[in-house]
Amino acid sequence: AHIDHGKSTLADRMLEITGVVKKAEKQMLDDMELEQERGITIKLKAVRMPFEKDGEKYELNIIDTPGHVDFGYEVSRALAACEGAVLLVDATQGVQAQTIVNYEKAKALNLKIIPVLNKIDLASAQVEETMFQLIDMGFNEDEILMISAKTGRGVKDLLNDIVDRIPPPNTCTSLTDTSKALVFDSYYDEFRGVIAFVNVVNGEFKTNSEIELFASKTKSRIVDLGYLSPGEVKEKVLSCGEVGFIATGLKDISNVRVGDTIFVPKEDKSIEPISGYKEPVPVVFLSFYPADSSDYLKLREAMEKLNLSDAAFTFQPESIGAIGKGFRCGFLGLLHADIVQERIEREFGVEVITTSPSVRYEIVTTKGVKKIINSATEFPDPTTLKEVKEPWAKLDIYTTAKYMSAVMDLCKSRRAIYIGTDQFDATRVRVSYEIPLIEIIIDFYDKLKSISSGYASIDYEVIDYRPTNVAKIDILVAGDVIAPLSQLVQRENAQQEGKRIVAKLKELIPRQQFKVSLQAAIGGKIIARENISPVRKDVTGHLYGGDVTRKMKLLEKQKKGKKRMKRFGKVDIPQNVFWKVMER
Ligand code: GDP
Ligand code: MG
Repeated sequence: AHIDHGKSTLADRMLEITGVVKKAEKQMLDDMELEQERGITIKLKAVRMPFEKDGEKYELNIIDTPGHVDFGYEVSRALAACEGAVLLVDATQGVQAQTIVNYEKAKALNLKIIPVLNKIDLASAQVEETMFQLIDMGFNEDEILMISAKTGRGVKDLLNDIVDRIPPPNTCTSLTDTSKALVFDSYYDEFRGVIAFVNVVNGEFKTNSEIELFASKTKSRIVDLGYLSPGEVKEKVLSCGEVGFIATGLKDISNVRVGDTIFVPKEDKSIEPISGYKEPVPVVFLSFYPADSSDYLKLREAMEKLNLSDAAFTFQPESIGAIGKGFRCGFLGLLHADIVQERIEREFGVEVITTSPSVRYEIVTTKGVKKIINSATEFPDPTTLKEVKEPWAKLDIYTTAKYMSAVMDLCKSRRAIYIGTDQFDATRVRVSYEIPLIEIIIDFYDKLKSISSGYASIDYEVIDYRPTNVAKIDILVAGDVIAPLSQLVQRENAQQEGKRIVAKLKELIPRQQFKVSLQAAIGGKIIARENISPVRKDVTGHLYGGDVTRKMKLLEKQKKGKKRMKRFGKVDIPQNVFWKVMER
């Protein structure tokens, strides 16, 4: 389904009805602090539920998945570990881009799919229209269920249907064949090493048995195993068809990769790995630096550990003159980058500063050498360049006729090439474009949402690299070039962009004790400038009278504000500037 269609709320009701919990806290499975705060699911979560139907006992394993386009990879992982999927559609919104993307993914894996309309308790639910959209996608009217995840109406029927319609795992052969399991998620535990979440597709795993990982050829012994419900429940055995966790005892994180096969090695048997999933391809690149440079090793450790549970981001050591040692990272989108940064700060206590996001450019030098550039700081002297290419994407926008012209205007302003429009279903059209990737990754989604009152949705995929004419803009703050603020922009817009950036910086950088000059330059030539006027020395001066607490509070607030800043040359720059400056 799509973001906010009610998946996590439905999971809550299922946990209650099956008696796993008495009363679900709101969106229980979103137990990460960040998930609760933002109201979105970031991580998939596999939970076991007992269920009884017609006197028979069943064991259901559900995985709640994220709905945002940036976390599509999590959905692929979940689907590869399942036999069936509930395709949940918010009846007030109808079928949206991620509904279709996830539906196609599930279909390709031959999963049994149960289409479900949610939020039928709301007066604004468009039950009939949404029904037709699902029928258009190939479902029969009588297989579509209607529920309210909020009130619980229809959820028991859905559980009954899951038992009736979704087949049990059928991969099990005989116990004498090699025991194997697919790793679909993992995290690091200080005491038990890497904990792998697995779907056992053959044989069984026991505490203390020897295991091997297919890809890394590492051996170990199982420390303990069990399942989530929703907390850890330890077991002696995990057997074929079961989903659970295996504490591997492995302390070297790089040995366990999501998508790998875990098996019990046998002398005389060779093993076929379980087919995993396509590795995700990062599209947005930016650098992470520790705000305190002595935290470099802590940052590296944090990234390695986080990479276990989120294999979708990549990172490589890098160093930029002015800020020191850090990492160049690749992400599936800006929200993804934002979440990873916050998780590093919260879960590992390392403060991070980031550079402006960019895409990957292909360059050819005048000497004919090909190179990949993924940040403006790596961009060479333009006189040594023969050709620069940037990634292009095929972009599909799903919208209603009402918002068509606004959508088209937005795309036009982003260098998009119009491909065509087709009637997607009774009410919606799909507008297709080819567009430079950089144009979508920076605040395109937010803009689209706001011009369409939240109704338009997108899907995109990188298709090729095409020649482009870019210029590197350097930004000088108080006379110093601030490397992480350097940008690659379209040459024809360079002047305008330089102006926009310095104007934006003037808003974003707080006043200092002295006048700060802001300049944009291309190859040493200044193309735009602004000044930030100095602040009055005594910040508490205007609080006349003797209110000490107010004075203290203000100073306290100032101190807190400072924490999120990093000093460049003479000036303190808030760390979010590097992102904010990109927003148009
Ligand atoms: P997810 O992104 O698909 O996991 O969606 P959530 O479960 O986080 O739900 C998004 C919002 O929709 C939350 O505010 C829920 O309370 C609300 N919601 C979910 N299901 C229903 C429903 O059946 N009826 C109503 N009225 N609201 C719902
Ligand atoms: Mg959710």
